[in-house]
Amino acid sequence: MDFNIITPVTVKELLGTMKKFQKKKFRFGAGCTDLLMELKRNPEENLTVINLSRVKDPLFTGIKKSAAGFRFGAMLTAHKIMVNEEIRNNFKVLHEAAESLASTQIRQVATVGGNVCTASPSGDMACALVALEADCEILGITGKKGMVPITGFFTGVRKTVLKKNELLCGIFVPAKNKKSKNIYSGFVKIGTRQSMECSVVSLAYHIQADAGGKIIHAGVAIGSSAPTIRFAEDAAHYLVGKKFENISVNERKEFAARVLTYATPIDDLRATAWYRKEVLFNISKAIFENDAKNSR
Ligand SMILES: Cc1cc2nc3c(=O)[nH]c(=O)nc-3n(C[C@H](O)[C@H](O)[C@H](O)COP(=O)(O)OP(=O)(O)OC[C@H]3O[C@@H](n4cnc5c(N)ncnc54)[C@H](O)[C@@H]3O)c2cc1C
Repeated sequence: MDFNIITPVTVKELLGTMKKFQKKKFRFGAGCTDLLMELKRNPEENLTVINLSRVKDPLFTGIKKSAAGFRFGAMLTAHKIMVNEEIRNNFKVLHEAAESLASTQIRQVATVGGNVCTASPSGDMACALVALEADCEILGITGKKGMVPITGFFTGVRKTVLKKNELLCGIFVPAKNKKSKNIYSGFVKIGTRQSMECSVVSLAYHIQADAGGKIIHAGVAIGSSAPTIRFAEDAAHYLVGKKFENISVNERKEFAARVLTYATPIDDLRATAWYRKEVLFNISKAIFENDAKNSR
């Protein structure tokens, strides 16, 4: 593995480096936990890695709360996401996803931007952000920014809408619905072992209910079940208008069946497609049994 590394420290320097290398082969590196594995498998000649880890700018590392929602930089590590009180209290699904990622050591360097941009169907934080219907803030080579809903960000296995001269600078999670009084939120990850393991299947949910317990908005996403993480819109919509705590056994099964319509898993070394579907059905049904644990 042989490549050239450039380490800009300001956004201006970063944009300058992107301009300088725009006609050459380059990749962005954040925590490099995925990138190094990829380059080991498929070495690229004459490659430059633009190392983002020293760009100390709120655009990449800041956390900001507003009435509209919560914005954080793409360079926040899984550890920083995991220990943030605001995220733990308001977006439990993201807290749990960050907490379940890899190991203590990897969480110190693996970034949320890297997790999204690597576009793996098993990305834990990415799956939580799909359930939260987050927006991706994209920075172009000219310094101009744009927003893309995360539900449209992934175009295939390890493929995104990002062009060569664009990068992810931040994530925006919209604030909860004003009438929302109870939130049922969580991340269920099934793997072949407890840590250092990508999911065999995962389910992220973020369900908002009014003071009477009636569901007013729901976000549900599945990981490791299709070429990309999928937003199970029909399943989420099915819950609206129902009381979370009164959802009957038949309604749980109907919800799980609707989640399953988004799954097109494959057989691989870690699990068969049949197993993934069985597990997904069962963990989808089970979220209503965990309500006491997950509501706040
Ligand atoms: C042993 C091991 C265990 C793992 N376990 C898990 C797990 O349990 N769950 C899980 O989800 N993942 C897991 N991973 C994968 C990986 O750690 C995560 O996906 C991590 O979040 C990637 O972040 P990073 O900052 O290291 O990304 P990098 O490796 O730096 O980058 C990943 C990709 O995204 C691109 N990129 C990075 N940042 C940006 C940006 N801001 N804009 C544009 N492109 C960008 C890079 O060019 C590269 O293509 C594991 C990896 C290893 C090695």
